[in-house]
Amino acid sequence: MARTLDSSTQQEIAARLRFYRDLGLTEFYRRPVDPTLLQDLARTQAGGPDSLHVSEAERAGEPPESQPIALSQNPSHQETDPIPPRKIPAPPAAITAVLPAADRDNALQVIREEIGDCTRCALHKGRNKLVFGDGTPQARLMFVGEGPGADEDAQGLPFVGRAGQLLNNMIGAMGLKREEVYIANVVKCRPPGNRTPEPEEANTCMPFLLRQIEVVHPEVLVALGATAATYLLGQRQPLAGLRGRVHSLRGIRLIVTYHPAYLLRDPRQKKEAWADLQIAMKELGLKPPAKG
Ligand code: URA
Repeated sequence: MARTLDSSTQQEIAARLRFYRDLGLTEFYRRPVDPTLLQDLARTQAGGPDSLHVSEAERAGEPPESQPIALSQNPSHQETDPIPPRKIPAPPAAITAVLPAADRDNALQVIREEIGDCTRCALHKGRNKLVFGDGTPQARLMFVGEGPGADEDAQGLPFVGRAGQLLNNMIGAMGLKREEVYIANVVKCRPPGNRTPEPEEANTCMPFLLRQIEVVHPEVLVALGATAATYLLGQRQPLAGLRGRVHSLRGIRLIVTYHPAYLLRDPRQKKEAWADLQIAMKELGLKPPAKG
């Protein structure tokens, strides 16, 4: 008979499942367990009451049936529960093979073609133009926003509206030109009314963004706002807890700052955003341009 898990393990699993649910992942399968591993574990854990619990069938060497574990529709932890800080899940392997600069244009083109006239999520229904990305594939610095707004949807380019103007100014203040960086979003189609992308939409689109990042392989990534930070880091935390330090995504340094649209609404935070951009500049060895 299977024994129950101790409460701290249960809490850890519940937190992990809530995180997956937030990302739109709701079905899980148990992989059959290698019986020799279980025997080893049982030996090392010496059978204490809180040790890993093994069903009779597993002890008898029968792999358990794979059963989908659907997250409850009515979870005990509601969306509004504070989400405990959690470790970054085992970081994806660092990118080992960086594409030669000359091949990156083509590689991005291949990704664009694979996306095609995308209907993978509901966002395609309201789309005028899909917004793939903009800038140089040889960029040392890459910005990631949330998703296209009305201007971007009309032009097929990221950050070309008011928030884009501000982003251009931020890039200029760093001593760079927009053409020298690469810009993309978590989702490539405009969410209706500029709402935050649903987890399912973001999760459907993220693999393409991750491939763009892999191809461009910037030295530094800047996540603009909470949506970009959440999906790039794989953890949902208030922005305040993520800003002001250097994270890592597959071996690429990642800095989190406010979204330019937020800075338009609350310009007092520009000073904080500038402090974040200075971290990025330091990582890149850049000095702000001389005034005058
Ligand atoms: N906001 C974003 O997050 N991305 C854009 O491309 C434009 C506005």
